[in-house]
Amino acid sequence: MPASAPEGRYYERLEGGSVRCGLCPHRCVLKDGAVGLCRVRVNHGGRLELPFFGAVSAEAIDPIEKKPLYHFKPGSRVYSVGYLGCNLRCPFCQNYGISQTTLAPSVAYTPAGLARAAKASGCPSLAHTYSEPLVHAEFVIETMVEARAAGLANVLVTNGCALADAASDVLDHCDAANVDLKSWDPAWYRSELGGDLDAVKAFIAMAIEKGVHVEVTTLVIPDKTDKPEDIVAMSKFLAGLSPDIPYHLSAYRPVYKYTIPPTPDATVQKLASLAREQLRYVYEGNIFNESNDTRCPYCGAILVRRHGYAVDASGLKHGACAACGTPAPFVA
Ligand code: SF4
Ligand code: SF4
Repeated sequence: MPASAPEGRYYERLEGGSVRCGLCPHRCVLKDGAVGLCRVRVNHGGRLELPFFGAVSAEAIDPIEKKPLYHFKPGSRVYSVGYLGCNLRCPFCQNYGISQTTLAPSVAYTPAGLARAAKASGCPSLAHTYSEPLVHAEFVIETMVEARAAGLANVLVTNGCALADAASDVLDHCDAANVDLKSWDPAWYRSELGGDLDAVKAFIAMAIEKGVHVEVTTLVIPDKTDKPEDIVAMSKFLAGLSPDIPYHLSAYRPVYKYTIPPTPDATVQKLASLAREQLRYVYEGNIFNESNDTRCPYCGAILVRRHGYAVDASGLKHGACAACGTPAPFVA
């Protein structure tokens, strides 16, 4: 660990050289030399430091639909970066090779350097994604400032497990976010994932309140997150914020520590039909069918047709349905 690592925000000094991190609901109390649960925030001599500030572990140009964001710049590409570490421990993490370790290779960026790389790619947006960006809130915020100055839109793909101060600071610079709402069971969220349902709900509500374009994803895992009453409750919660929030119900596939068989398509389809009683735009993720198209909720015309990551948005005209003229909640 370099002695001169940048100092983190969101912490307080305690008696005897310990610190308490206040970035996420874990509120880790760290003795001198100790590392937080996220693995990337360290007490160094009574100062909370960020030894992985700017360490980018993954870089790619992705379709925006892969985040998934279906109603934000449809059909565009997004310069996407991941980091190291995460404050959760999901046993089904697709990115465990970077989220559950700090030993994976990384490239050092400055915020301005990362914004320049994204700009040079020709993409209109820069996404902080793959592992958990919020545990690197300081770097993400500085990069978002640089990216906006360069004319880029800022995208966040997150578990939403942050306390209000950090959440507010990040969301102030964010244009679009996909937030995981992993379960409606607070005990399971805590014991199985290390997450906090109330924090995630507050994060989503704050993002909406701040005018961020928000989409939400729930991974449907057999016997874990596939209870119809929970999906209805989550849909009602989202609809209470806005019935236009796009909701992605994604079919789970075995990965990392989970060997549970894949979610049957029919389960996702049944749950999606329940969610559609509350929300206008519900998508069946990891299933290639017409549910991935967006239809005008008023006349039924296809606004955006999706086949894999091929996108045809010709049904949208000036932010409205080309057939009936009803405004459609898309960010161009
Ligand atoms: S961000 Fe990391 S160090 Fe801070 S409270 Fe959360 S897990 Fe602990
Ligand atoms: S929150 Fe995301 S990155 Fe972190 S462990 Fe869970 S799935 Fe992986």
